[in-house]
Amino acid sequence: MKVIFILPRETKLDPETKCLLYIGRNTNGRGYPCVRIGSKTLLLHRVIFEKVFGKIPEQVHHICRNKKCLNAAHYQNTTDQEHKQLHLRTHCTNGHELTFDNVYLHENGVGGVARVCRTCKRDYERKVRRKYR
Ligand SMILES: [Zn+2]
Ligand SMILES: [Zn+2]
Ligand SMILES: [Zn+2]
Repeated sequence: MKVIFILPRETKLDPETKCLLYIGRNTNGRGYPCVRIGSKTLLLHRVIFEKVFGKIPEQVHHICRNKKCLNAAHYQNTTDQEHKQLHLRTHCTNGHELTFDNVYLHENGVGGVARVCRTCKRDYERKVRRKYR
């Protein structure tokens, strides 16, 4: 059976993070957007991943850390192990805490995004400015 899937209309684009946030009511107990296909309820991000990348993911990681985000560019396929590692990482290489406010999503030019520490970015920009003064 071929499943024809369209994005739900209940979405809102966050202009800063480019997150496509699901604002509908169809979520599971943990707050993840769901979709009913036939008699089954599936996790929407897994359905989207499969649709966009053409393969079934192991663990879909939301790079933006927003479980309601439906933007496939913010998805990363990881193994169970990698996924745990990603979620254990609470600080950047320079020891700044990666809180929601301290992280910004950087578009990497090949359609994906990377999480960048704002404090490091600020420090770096300050250094560069000093150099060229
Ligand atoms: Zn997102
Ligand atoms: Zn994750
Ligand atoms: Zn940092």
